[in-house]
Amino acid sequence: MSTAVVHYAAAALTDRGRKRPSNEDAVGYSVEHGVYIVCDGMGGAAAGEVASQQAVDEMLAALGNAPAGEDAPSLEEAADQAICATNESIYARARRNPHLSGMGTTLVGLLVRGGELLVVNVGDSRCYRLRQQRLEQITLDHSLVEEQVRLGRMTPAEALRSPLRNVITRALGTQNSVTADFFHLEPEPGDLFLLCSDGLTRELKDAQIEAILLGDPALDGLCRHLVEAAKKAGGQDNITCLVVRVEA
Ligand code: CA
Repeated sequence: MSTAVVHYAAAALTDRGRKRPSNEDAVGYSVEHGVYIVCDGMGGAAAGEVASQQAVDEMLAALGNAPAGEDAPSLEEAADQAICATNESIYARARRNPHLSGMGTTLVGLLVRGGELLVVNVGDSRCYRLRQQRLEQITLDHSLVEEQVRLGRMTPAEALRSPLRNVITRALGTQNSVTADFFHLEPEPGDLFLLCSDGLTRELKDAQIEAILLGDPALDGLCRHLVEAAKKAGGQDNITCLVVRVEA
C-alpha cells in the first residue's frame, strides 16, 4: 500500500434541467474525510429526492465518522457497511410512510483513505476517470439495457433509444438488501474523476464529456460547462456532476 500523502480537490453542481419540475438528484462531499457521493432518486411525488438526499447524508455521516487505526475495517468493509445501513434505513422509511413507498436511489461514490482510492456503485449513475487526456468509464451501469449490451443482445445505439432504458436492476432502498460494485484504483497525480447522474450521460457522448474535461482547469468551471452542455443538448432530466482531482 502506498503511504504517500495524496491531496484532492473537488467541485460539484446539480441542476433541475429543462424539463423536470423538481430535482431528484443529490450530491455531497467532504475532502477532509475523502467521501464523494452522487445519488439519483426515484419514486412518486417527492419520494425520489427524499431517498437521494438521505443516501448522501447517511453515507457522509457513516464514512466521515469511520473508526481509524489498526483494528479499523478495511475501506471496502467500511463502505459496504455504510451502503447496507443506508439501504436498510431508506427501505424501512419507505415501508413506514405510504407517501414514500417504493422510493429508491442510485449511488456512485469515490472514497479515499491514505493512498487508497475506492469507487462504489449501485445503479446507473457513473464514475469516469480522465488520465493522460483519455476518458475511461470506471463503473458498469446496473441497467436492463446495459446488461443486454454486455451480453451482446443489444447495440449501444439501440440501448439509448430503448423504451426500457430507465429500468435499473439495482438500487438503494427498494429491497431489504443490496450488493454494490467496488473498484480499487491507484490514484496518480493529475487524475480527474467525474461522478455524474444519467441526466448528463444521456445528453452527452463520452467524447463530448472528455473534450469538456480537457478544457477549463478550474473545477467549478468544468462542472458549469458540463451542466450547460447537457442542458443545451436537451436537459430532459436532472443533471449532476462532481469532479475530483488528484493533486500532486
Ligand atoms: Ca436521472
